[in-house]
Amino acid sequence: MVGKCPEVVVMSNKTLGLSPQLHDYLISVSVREPELLTQLREETAKLPMSQMQIAPEQGQFMALLVQLMGVTKALEVGVFTGYSSLIVALALPKNGKLVACDVDEDYTSIARRYWEKAGVSEKIDLHLAPALETLDRLLEDGQAETFDFAFIDADKRSYPNYYEKSLQLVRPGGLIAVDNVLWSGQVADPEDMDKRTEAIREFNQKIHEDDRVTLSLVPIADGLTLALKR
Ligand code: CA
Repeated sequence: MVGKCPEVVVMSNKTLGLSPQLHDYLISVSVREPELLTQLREETAKLPMSQMQIAPEQGQFMALLVQLMGVTKALEVGVFTGYSSLIVALALPKNGKLVACDVDEDYTSIARRYWEKAGVSEKIDLHLAPALETLDRLLEDGQAETFDFAFIDADKRSYPNYYEKSLQLVRPGGLIAVDNVLWSGQVADPEDMDKRTEAIREFNQKIHEDDRVTLSLVPIADGLTLALKR
């Protein structure tokens, strides 16, 4: 569930730990953001929850992963205004599919408008319902191990559940990417006992010990865990 929750105050939508100067340099020599995605980012920046949008360098990285893996069927938990779904859908082949889960009609109406403009609406199947219900329905529907890629970026306290369901839905060799795992650095601050910080910390620990996946926590944007299903 992404929604009007207060987590925006802590999450970062820029790569952490770089000086502003080095960050600007990285963006200038790496990011090749299509015009429509720039427009979407600018429109989203006017919203109070704009930090829930992923960083452009992260979007581009995810699109590269999608191409690298030859993904044809993808899952997204947490759409918000659609930056990640749009960049992933653009990287999918013509026959590719993205199953997108969210509960917020207002934010996803912005996403839909951009999917339409980009000509990728046909590739995206939006489920406006609690994501766990949608994921259960996909499993009941016999779609276990049919997804190549999953991106989890919704309410942090449900991460363990989203992860477990996604792990059933991706094929062996499929990839799960989990966003905000460095949580603006607060995960490393033992004084920070915020419920969401603790949830992410526990999730990170759990996945570290999970031998069902090959793991890398990539310090891009707010931290992106990559878990490859064995
Ligand atoms: Ca996020």
